Amino acid sequence: MTSWVEGAAGSPFDLDNLPYGVFSRGGDAPRVGVRIGDHVLDLAGVSDDGWWRAPSLNAFLAQGRGQWDASRARITDLLGDEAHRERTEPHLHPLAGVDLHLPIEVADYVDFYASEHHASNVGRMFRPDQEPLLPNWKHLPVGYHGRAGTVVVSGTDVVRPSGQRKAPTEDTPTFGPSRRLDIEAELGFVVGTPSTLGEPVPTGAFADHVFGVVGLNDWSARDVQAWEYVPLGPFLGKSFATSISAWVTPLAALDAAWTDLPGQQDPPVLDYLRVDGPAGLDIEVEVVLDGEVVARPPYRTMYWSPAQMLAHTTANGASLRTGDLYGSGTISGPEKDQRGSLLELSWGGQEPFTLAGRERTFLEDGDEVVLRYSAPGTGGGRIALGEVTGRVAPAR
Ligand code: CA
Repeated sequence: MTSWVEGAAGSPFDLDNLPYGVFSRGGDAPRVGVRIGDHVLDLAGVSDDGWWRAPSLNAFLAQGRGQWDASRARITDLLGDEAHRERTEPHLHPLAGVDLHLPIEVADYVDFYASEHHASNVGRMFRPDQEPLLPNWKHLPVGYHGRAGTVVVSGTDVVRPSGQRKAPTEDTPTFGPSRRLDIEAELGFVVGTPSTLGEPVPTGAFADHVFGVVGLNDWSARDVQAWEYVPLGPFLGKSFATSISAWVTPLAALDAAWTDLPGQQDPPVLDYLRVDGPAGLDIEVEVVLDGEVVARPPYRTMYWSPAQMLAHTTANGASLRTGDLYGSGTISGPEKDQRGSLLELSWGGQEPFTLAGRERTFLEDGDEVVLRYSAPGTGGGRIALGEVTGRVAPAR
């Protein structure tokens, strides 16, 4: 089944995708829309449900899986059946004529470290005298609590952060603009249904709680990070900005993307982290720097699954809230051109790569980063997730 909307049929945003976002036109009130082709459908125009009139997806996300499925079925019908065209078409707007906003009011934000290849690469660079992976890494999905209030929508400029940094060759720290500003290409998971304080969420309840996914760029100041992170983990080297896509792709659109984890988890995980069946996602990522693809990280190579990250987050009884966001951690595959950070692509700055005829390592002012994502769709073609863009503005 394809959509009657012009340009949608066969595109990466056909009926088998239907991501949600928040948009406005000409400065009017932001409200919820669904993307079809290069158009957005104003859901408040075709439905009386109050949650579409809200300035974030949260009210809709809080309705739970039953309503998510019912709404998707209804929207599929509206955009797929010619019988609804006449009354639906006036509420379609070209994307070029709308402003897109942060789609969710972010509750808590957690970021993981789920790629074995990324964690091993960083371990080799940051702790060259030790085993690349620390002893806990294969027993639990390592993560940290990030800053929800600095999650920004794709298209937002990122001001180069200043901070305290001390290179190993320097005796004392200095304060100033980061010299090693970086990206991390990640996937983000958006929680819809909350959970009860004191009650862990098992891996099998992943789809009851998680509504969908976003593209995510975890901007990172490597010099600040390297100096501050021992012993309590990332802090100011990460908290200045995290960009997410303007579109939230529902899990329902990813039914064909589930795949096995890259191998048997060894050592075997504790019971609360066990997963059955395909627990990984076959999502392709492209990292584009100033118009050139510099890496193609494959999400299917991730060691820890999204369901395991959710179960671990709540294993101590910590509860989930609508709008919780958790990132996968940098997606890096085994190959050099599959690395999802400039830290890895330039090997700590020691092995510059060539871009537009120049040698490059970390981000320069004016650089534009675009993260693109695609996955197998349920219709046999491919769907795209919302892209994540951001330009580096000079330090203030
Ligand atoms: Ca990260």
